[in-house]
Amino acid sequence: MTALPKYGCFRCFPNGRRSEMNMGSIWVVAEQHRGQPLPIAFELLGAARDLTDNVRAITFGQGATAAAKLLGEHGARSIVELGDLAPGLPAPRVAAALAEMVAEERPEAVFFGTTFDGREIAARLSARLRRPLLANVIGLELTVDGPVAHHGLNGGEELATTRFINARPGIYLLRPKCFAPRDRESPSTATVAHREPPEAGATDAVRVVAHQEVVQHGPTLDAAEIVVTGGRGFGSVEKFAQVEQLAELLKGATGATRAAVDAGWAPYSAQVGQTGKIVKPNVYIACGVSGATQHLVGMKDSSHIIAINKDPEAAIFSVSDLGIVADVNALLPRLIRALEARR
Ligand SMILES: Cc1cc2nc3c(=O)[nH]c(=O)nc-3n(C[C@H](O)[C@H](O)[C@H](O)COP(=O)(O)OP(=O)(O)OC[C@H]3O[C@@H](n4cnc5c(N)ncnc54)[C@H](O)[C@@H]3O)c2cc1C
Repeated sequence: MTALPKYGCFRCFPNGRRSEMNMGSIWVVAEQHRGQPLPIAFELLGAARDLTDNVRAITFGQGATAAAKLLGEHGARSIVELGDLAPGLPAPRVAAALAEMVAEERPEAVFFGTTFDGREIAARLSARLRRPLLANVIGLELTVDGPVAHHGLNGGEELATTRFINARPGIYLLRPKCFAPRDRESPSTATVAHREPPEAGATDAVRVVAHQEVVQHGPTLDAAEIVVTGGRGFGSVEKFAQVEQLAELLKGATGATRAAVDAGWAPYSAQVGQTGKIVKPNVYIACGVSGATQHLVGMKDSSHIIAINKDPEAAIFSVSDLGIVADVNALLPRLIRALEARR
């Protein structure tokens, strides 16, 4: 175990020794939605380009062609687009395509974002290649021995520094908001190729029969500058509605603990934490949230944390910049009224 120096990418070549090592290419699995790469895709490109110029992006789904152009403008030297994989499940086919490509070209590393799809495809690729996967990566360092990763263990309570030995490619799951996104550099000189993914076997028998898009009001959890999260402390779905109201008034996004999601007060897409989303807003307001480790790993890197809890011993206060010991069901209505009066 080692203390983590800082987040992001570093190069450790005291005398410009980088050229002594034969750094292979880094592949970035770049998720996109309707032609727009997700913010994490640009962060993966930033992380990869800090280590090597030899970066390929792999993208898929409806809109992949439009996304490919943007990925080229943000640091990918080549792009492979796998096209729209509907109506089957995309993850098995993307993993199958990656496994085929890895066997042909043996990249140094494959980077995924810690998203629902990223986690699934990375795990499938790891199983297909019978190679380990390194999750929760928050920093990368390029040494003469190759890339070294700083990553969290035990829900982020411990930090380890790890290097792949005799396992190429290294498969890395990078945490969002830990790596600087790659700035746009127009015009793109990247090459774009289409590749038909192979059949993925038994999972190809599965067909997606309905697709429901979550209606988004205001900013997404990933992009919001302000996140207001509610926990079990609200006691009921009716009272939890105050979280959404406050988030809307602050032009922020609504988050929820797993307890609130399990109670049916918020959708799973709003869950923050180890098995939900990782957020890093400017302001994170935790209301009626105890601060379990599994929740903290998803929000503790927020710039400013405000916690409201009636228990002065609640663990959430240990990561808070401002702690308010109060009943959320008494404080939030007053806060909401005050903000409404200012509109
Ligand atoms: C494998 C695994 C993965 C997990 N992943 C996640 C995850 O991704 N995200 C996540 O959030 N959890 C996750 N959990 C669950 C986690 O361990 C906690 O159970 C959960 O975070 C607790 O949610 P909570 O804080 O809302 O509820 P509680 O722990 O019950 O806390 C409620 C808090 O509200 C306070 N309170 C009560 N009434 C009031 C009031 N009127 N006013 C003010 N404060 C009040 C209480 O003092 C308490 O601190 C995971 C657990 C496991 C085992």
